[in-house]
Amino acid sequence: MTQPSSVIQSWLDKRHNLFIGGQWRPAASGQTLDVYNPATAEVISRVPAGDATDIDAAVAAAREAFNSWRRSRPSQREKLLLDLADALEDRADDFALLETLDNGKPVTFSRQMDMNLAIDFIRYTAGWATKIEGRSMTPSMPFVPDDKQIVAYTRREPVGVVGAIIPWNFPLLMAVWKVAPALAAGCSIILKPAEDTPLSALLLAELAEQVGLPAGTFNVVTGLGHTAGAALAGHPGINKVAFTGSTPVGKLIGHAAMENMTRTTLELGGKSPVMVLADADIEAAAAGAAQAIFFNQGQVCTAGSRIYVHETIHDIFVAKLADQARGLTLAPGWETTSTLGPLVSAKQQRRVLDYIDQARSDGGTIITGGGKGIETGYFVEPTVISGLAQGSRCVQEEIFGPVVVVQTFRELDELVELANDSPYGLAASIWSNDLSAVNRLVPEIEAGSVWVNGHNLLDASMPFGGFKQSGIGRELSDCPIEHYTEQKSVVMIV
Ligand code: ADP
Repeated sequence: MTQPSSVIQSWLDKRHNLFIGGQWRPAASGQTLDVYNPATAEVISRVPAGDATDIDAAVAAAREAFNSWRRSRPSQREKLLLDLADALEDRADDFALLETLDNGKPVTFSRQMDMNLAIDFIRYTAGWATKIEGRSMTPSMPFVPDDKQIVAYTRREPVGVVGAIIPWNFPLLMAVWKVAPALAAGCSIILKPAEDTPLSALLLAELAEQVGLPAGTFNVVTGLGHTAGAALAGHPGINKVAFTGSTPVGKLIGHAAMENMTRTTLELGGKSPVMVLADADIEAAAAGAAQAIFFNQGQVCTAGSRIYVHETIHDIFVAKLADQARGLTLAPGWETTSTLGPLVSAKQQRRVLDYIDQARSDGGTIITGGGKGIETGYFVEPTVISGLAQGSRCVQEEIFGPVVVVQTFRELDELVELANDSPYGLAASIWSNDLSAVNRLVPEIEAGSVWVNGHNLLDASMPFGGFKQSGIGRELSDCPIEHYTEQKSVVMIV
């Protein structure tokens, strides 16, 4: 086992504080939360248990900072974000290991995926700071005398103080998906990381301080969802709440925000179908489907957790998918050979194992997996289940673990019906080179992202978000600029 580097070990051991208004301070209550290593179930660090009092302080600091930050030069904001990306790149190995110790994910993936995606996204978003535009119009306004001119245009202004509440599956990446666009648009932000994975947010705050982000523009309050999170979502002093997490919590946050007419974007759960058509390259589809569900231990909102395979290729496809699952190396994330780490918490492990038991009692066949695999820590084996009815819980509900259900279809119309038979609509993938079939399916599938011959094909330049109960609003691309700004119409008679 590789031990954390001494730099990371001493960072874990230190007394952590909240980052509010450019100051590091303990929670007002003095309380702390234990942080666990999911591969060993041991406590590796402690963070402050912030609550409503700390959220009040953070909102006040962010409001004060906003008053000058909103007037800052766009090029200054761009430069600071680029500096933040460089600082993150310099510390990428430390961050990757921290993410692995906190979340459990294999360190090769946290370095290659989480870190690189976070750095790229900050750089991409930095560029938007200087490209926020309005439009000019030529209104008719018959009540304005002919000898007067009408000058009309729109401007985009930062929405204000943002509250960001994020989940534990990609702690750093989800943080920068919110922090970078908010800062680029001229907003100040309070980040409430998930209680299971609060560490990388605190290290990110150290970098923000190091690169010279003005005090109060970026604040971090660690704490529990029902205390710190709820206080932030319902705070009358914030102007926007940006949330990624489960659909039930998203609904709570949406209701709380609506009380104050706080703008919201909600990126929620999914049950994304993987559709394997009769002509598919079976080898590639099985490998892709395995990646779609097992990447990040299946703790991905876009995880390809339902497979619909044409009945003529079902048996061979399932055999190859099971081979892929068995080929994964279940091991603590810091071992470089690990391709599947533990789940994030004991709670999550219990939840996933309960779903597998449910599948058994619903008559499903466990083709491979089904157990913990490793007794210490929160592991669950990669699990492939077939033979379940469309209405069963494992087909309908988000499991958020390395568990996939495989079903068959015969006709494309039936496939569309099955794929859309879900409360969710986040993503979908189609495996085929039959262009007419693919292009018939794409407009019919109710999902915010549709990928062909790939899965999780996310990029900073492509809008991302859900149909139906998978959320409201889009992240990535230029979409956040819309969500982190208000539009003002200006008309002059001169
Ligand atoms: P879970 O941890 O049960 O999987 P989520 O993934 O939805 O729940 O949690 C995502 C984020 O939402 C976390 O940061 C969590 O602290 C926060 N959260 C949980 N409950 C609430 C709540 N009632 N109000 C605001 N935030 C919450």
